[in-house]
Amino acid sequence: MSGIPRDAHRELRERLGGYALGHGDPAERAAVRAHLDGCTACRAELAELAPVAARLADIDPDHLDETPQAPPGLGDAVLARIAAEERRGPRRVAERRRLRTRIAAGVAAAGIAAAGAGVGWLLRPVPDAGPLEAVPVRIEDADIDARADIVPHTWGVEVKLSGSGFTAGEVYSVTVRESDGDEVPAGAFLGVGPAELDCNLNSPVLRSDATGFDVLDADGSVVLSSRF
Ligand SMILES: [Zn+2]
Repeated sequence: MSGIPRDAHRELRERLGGYALGHGDPAERAAVRAHLDGCTACRAELAELAPVAARLADIDPDHLDETPQAPPGLGDAVLARIAAEERRGPRRVAERRRLRTRIAAGVAAAGIAAAGAGVGWLLRPVPDAGPLEAVPVRIEDADIDARADIVPHTWGVEVKLSGSGFTAGEVYSVTVRESDGDEVPAGAFLGVGPAELDCNLNSPVLRSDATGFDVLDADGSVVLSSRF
């Protein structure tokens, strides 16, 4: 962006979203276009915004005035995730900090998306809908009733866990087992007692390497396991 004043660049950059959506009067749009002509960085950013703008155009306008809400349990899920990481024992400080930063960034992005334009949650990426594979579960805690499916994604196995009887307020963590016996963290959730819960837990283990999963209570005891 040689020759372009930094402030002009910053200001124009903030208007790229509106530009991509077709907003702005002709003079404003002309100003953005003029800047785009000379600014590679803003052209690249516009190229990234364009698909989002296209998705917005597909959204049913009848739903635009609905108040967007964060998915129920988002805050709890985040706290559970942090608690599970804390519990996991001695970890390098930098590693924890990185995780916390990532979670905070994710929550911030979610909040911003929810506040923006009344359509925030519709902008979340649509997961690739892989085939559901029902898997057997072995329950070690008589209070728990649960079933599970897994979904083989290109990025790893997703465990879809449904059930009830997980102690209210207790943090449960889930690990996916690899063929070499390693247990890879796949997330955590909070028990809600007798109420039914549906949890999606994502792991970076590919279906071809995954041989099962375990659900551990706050003490680290396995309350439920699956082998497939
Ligand atoms: Zn620029």
